[in-house]
Amino acid sequence: MKTMLETLMTVGYGELIVYGLIINFGIYIGSMGLYTVLSNFPKARKMGNQHPITGSDITLSLITVICNTFVFLLGVWLWKYGFIQLSEQQQWWRVLAELLCLTVIMDFLMYVFHRAVHFVRQFRKLHERHHQHQSTNMLSLFVLHPIESIGFGLMMLAVIYVVPFSAIGISLYLGLNSLWGTIGHLHHTVLPPSWLKLAKRGYICTSEFHYLHHQHPDFNFGFYSSVWDVVFKTVHPGVRQ
Ligand SMILES: [Zn+2]
Ligand SMILES: [Zn+2]
Repeated sequence: MKTMLETLMTVGYGELIVYGLIINFGIYIGSMGLYTVLSNFPKARKMGNQHPITGSDITLSLITVICNTFVFLLGVWLWKYGFIQLSEQQQWWRVLAELLCLTVIMDFLMYVFHRAVHFVRQFRKLHERHHQHQSTNMLSLFVLHPIESIGFGLMMLAVIYVVPFSAIGISLYLGLNSLWGTIGHLHHTVLPPSWLKLAKRGYICTSEFHYLHHQHPDFNFGFYSSVWDVVFKTVHPGVRQ
């Protein structure tokens, strides 16, 4: 990781843009691959028909990849010029603690902002495009208004600005974010039905949990955990059964 950081510190902007595009297109293609594998999992149960993939979905998802690349470049720039400090954690348990800490902080912030974009009229328009997918498809995770994509990135950079995390911790968090975002947007459920009860208890968000949000947008705002939905009583009744 140190060599990677040294490379990022010394390369020019042209190469940085290429690195950013490779990383973010890698995440995009990896998410679609995982979606396909999980959807064809022998025990996968279909929750509804796949939302048709349109030309506009493809264009918007590619714009999201560009936005994510922009956030990556901004993050590297802020780090290069000392605005963002990275911790030097190398011990595995400290890195895992960082991953947990970053996930918990982002989980709360994402619940707050997700709920805000649903209920504040001025923000609602931004999120409407994502909710045109009443069911989901392999691109749903990336079908976002550019302000939403950049807003998520800036929120993460703000957290990293306040609390120095290590590059490994941040990378693991971004990996988890892609993994959970992909699982959350499956139109199949690959976890046993009893796992939905974990969502009810405030543990984790499952595919069904977020699928219900696409069907009933006034409920289930959580992304990683459903704890804030439980606390603020926004869990869909279908989860409580
Ligand atoms: Zn969604
Ligand atoms: Zn929503």
